[in-house]
Amino acid sequence: MISGANYIGSKESKEGNIAYKTFNPKLNLETDWTFYEANKEEVNEAVSLASDAFKTYKNFSGIKKAEFLRAIAKEIELLGSTLIETYMAESGLPEGRAIGERGRTIGQLLAFAQLLEDGSWVEASIDTSQPDRAPMPKVDLRKMFSPIGPIVVFGASNFPLAFSTAGGDTASALASGCPVIVKSHPMHAGTSELVASAVLKAASLTGMPNGVFSNLNSKGFDVGRQLVLHPMVKGVGFTGSIKGGTALSKMANEREEPIPVFAEMGSVNPVVILPSAIENENDKWANVYANSITMGSGQFCTNPGLILGVKGDSLNSFIDALGREVSKVEPSCMLHPNIYNAFESGKNELSAQKNVDVVASYSENATVNFGAAKVLRVLGAEFFKNSTLHREVFGPFSIVVECKDYLELENILKQLEGQLTGTILGNAQELKDFGSIVEALKNRVGRIIFNGAPTGVEVCSSMQHGGPFPATTDSRFTSVGVRSIERWVRPVAYQNWPNDLLPQELQNENPLQIFRYVDGNFSNKNIG
Ligand code: NAP
Repeated sequence: MISGANYIGSKESKEGNIAYKTFNPKLNLETDWTFYEANKEEVNEAVSLASDAFKTYKNFSGIKKAEFLRAIAKEIELLGSTLIETYMAESGLPEGRAIGERGRTIGQLLAFAQLLEDGSWVEASIDTSQPDRAPMPKVDLRKMFSPIGPIVVFGASNFPLAFSTAGGDTASALASGCPVIVKSHPMHAGTSELVASAVLKAASLTGMPNGVFSNLNSKGFDVGRQLVLHPMVKGVGFTGSIKGGTALSKMANEREEPIPVFAEMGSVNPVVILPSAIENENDKWANVYANSITMGSGQFCTNPGLILGVKGDSLNSFIDALGREVSKVEPSCMLHPNIYNAFESGKNELSAQKNVDVVASYSENATVNFGAAKVLRVLGAEFFKNSTLHREVFGPFSIVVECKDYLELENILKQLEGQLTGTILGNAQELKDFGSIVEALKNRVGRIIFNGAPTGVEVCSSMQHGGPFPATTDSRFTSVGVRSIERWVRPVAYQNWPNDLLPQELQNENPLQIFRYVDGNFSNKNIG
């Protein structure tokens, strides 16, 4: 079933002469499949097709695009155990995670279908004319979101389904009316090919234009670079390293026509412990955080990599309990030897910093490619001056910072780079008493959590998955939840346009019955 070909629209193609294999980290062996990297001509063909497809696809009704998304969800489900087995072989992740991630991917597609069927997401805004207004007549103005054009999606290594081929970036871009070209992640090219075949089958069943979706293989930077620099590409979605995301963002900004790159990159997700949490619920939080640090071998962008508290007996007992719990967690398989090696070297580099102590480290020899968790402790003053300790170590790793007082803790928060999440453990009264700490944390993050753990990102419209740089390249947007559609659209205003030539969303009769902002009021009624 896996051919190793690129999908250029509906055509399978393997014209390139660079071949590569994916890797099973659990067996420490290459898989049987061979993939063919797209060559220059294949990349150009995929982009030209997407640009042609855009001319019709952008004008399809929400109902028709929703049918397409629902069909993709169905075709992914129909891939059955082949998809689950391929996912597990290429990622080393367990079956439960594979099934859960497939469910999340399908759920995202269905959520976007529902959004399109409702239709109000276009934020239609209408100001009717006032020809008799003095001293100047007022023109008729009507505005709504419009798709921007072909989007390139870089698959993420740590979410082979939910943030890859038909994941959130692709689902949101297709929902907005933009064709998608996926640059498949080389660590799970087989999973990507299977999902791509499901998307293309759905496209054919629902009458979508050829080129609405393509899937390109690549194991180096050339294909990604060519796509980002291609003049017909109008936007990019990326999840991965800070280095990769900033390189692509810089490239896109230096084009003759700069385009947006929505990159979700690194985060250490600081957690602040206030007194009541460790005085009253020490064991509970130690348990919750041992799980959160080690879940999925720590390969989540929301992994809690930094825990801050004020030095004292209560913090000491929390650190002891956390150490005990983390040491009990058996190492689990990481995504790929490259990720495992990056984890080992990051862990070793931070452990070797001055005045850093080990709180927990799994002591037995771990299997190859299995990441053994580590937790370090360091004094606030040391952390403050050593920026190496602020770095994300992607894997089951965290540092507990012992501050001398809450002022030092607040100053550390103020000095941190942008983060996806920040968490406060304590009680409601402490949120008031430590207001300046809450403000300092809020200023650095996209999502602020009270008495919980940052791992586990709910997919819903109120989710914010995006924070100040370098957590993401644009903190005004989210990459999770239906609002992520806003990354792929721009507002277009029509002035004095004939009613019957307006998009249906802006017509007087409101044929779609959507909610609109009409002359200052929200309403789903018609005008006139
Ligand atoms: P990555 O190195 O950032 O690569 C992600 C994708 O971007 C790959 O397809 C890669 O291409 C491409 N790419 C990277 N730099 C590029 C450049 N300069 N020009 C063109 N294309 C470029 O991420 P990764 O391979 O998934 O994992 C590496 C590290 O990233 C991890 O150890 C971890 O630290 C971090 N990471 C973070 C998150 C997060 O959620 N924050 C998620 C995953 C990974 P090729 O692979 O084809 O060369």
